[in-house]
Amino acid sequence: PAAVPHKPRVFSLYPLEPSVIEYGSQFFDLTVPGDPDWKNWREEAEAVMVRSNVIDADDVAKFGPGLKFVGKHGVGIDQLAAKEIRSKGVIIMNTAGVNATAVAELALALTMTLARNIPAIDRRIRSGATVDKNAEGAVGIQLTGRTFGIVGGGNIGYTLGKMLYGAFGAQIYLYDPVLSPTMAQKWADLLPSSKLIRVDNVDDMMPHIDVLSLHVPLIESTRGIIGEKQLKAMKPTAIVVNTARGGVVDEAALLKALKEKWISAAGIDAYAIEPPHVDNYSELIAQERVVSLPHIGAASLDVIRITAIAVLDHLKDAFAG
Ligand code: NAD
Repeated sequence: PAAVPHKPRVFSLYPLEPSVIEYGSQFFDLTVPGDPDWKNWREEAEAVMVRSNVIDADDVAKFGPGLKFVGKHGVGIDQLAAKEIRSKGVIIMNTAGVNATAVAELALALTMTLARNIPAIDRRIRSGATVDKNAEGAVGIQLTGRTFGIVGGGNIGYTLGKMLYGAFGAQIYLYDPVLSPTMAQKWADLLPSSKLIRVDNVDDMMPHIDVLSLHVPLIESTRGIIGEKQLKAMKPTAIVVNTARGGVVDEAALLKALKEKWISAAGIDAYAIEPPHVDNYSELIAQERVVSLPHIGAASLDVIRITAIAVLDHLKDAFAG
């Protein structure tokens, strides 16, 4: 009889949805919490899947010789004794970039809702006002054919760019002086050169764009990258969307820009002090054309499933060499 191909033994330290178990079982002998021999994960696993689970040095001391990979659901690995794990020759893999669709969709949602001033008009109607369709604030801007500025062209920025070009035929100014060659190629393949303008200085895009969306990590070079100078240079109809990190936009400058109408609106999923609260941001939150969210960019029902599938795919590739 033909030999049954070996399915690596993979132990998940966190529960998986039935559809994910079904997917993973095609490639792996998969053991999940609640299975009878689940407690033997240290000794018997060839790969382990972790989410917020802790793997400490004592666990590592019990690792069997067959363990090759730890697949992390998400990016942060602070709860893993990484040094000890690696010293056993075990490779730790994360799932970067899996949140991109969820965050890009939220940036788009904020853009669209602010382009038509939806939250403010809805609030007026709730409060009992009669809002005429020609009322101040009820006449918005369309996005089709508009010009967008994206700061940070990585996973999220690129995913948003794809949506904007696909849905609106957008022209895109991109500022990312440290864009990886792989991502640069993806951008070049996505847009005709007449639609993609890469700038070497973020200031150069400001006068041209209708929407600014931020997709950079908060690091030395990005802290306060959008401040008074940049906001002042924008169109008065412009919308600023920040789903990156609070410190990337100078919040005092943003408040000033809104009050003095240098720009028209701001969608903010990332505050310097989170979650956003009136105690810290009474004026900013109260602006009629500000929508505040408590860092929900990646909070979609799909993300958990998609991430678990990504962990399994990484493990599949890793075992295939
Ligand atoms: P990524 O690493 O794929 O992309 C980041 C991009 O920023 C890279 O292309 C990099 O070249 C670029 N960059 C670095 N320094 C820069 C600089 N000084 N100027 C311009 N560009 C610069 O990361 P990603 O997955 O696209 O995520 C982007 C950011 O989104 C994260 O760092 C995080 O802060 C934020 N985020 C927010 C949420 C949320 O819930 N709102 C969720 C996930 C990520």
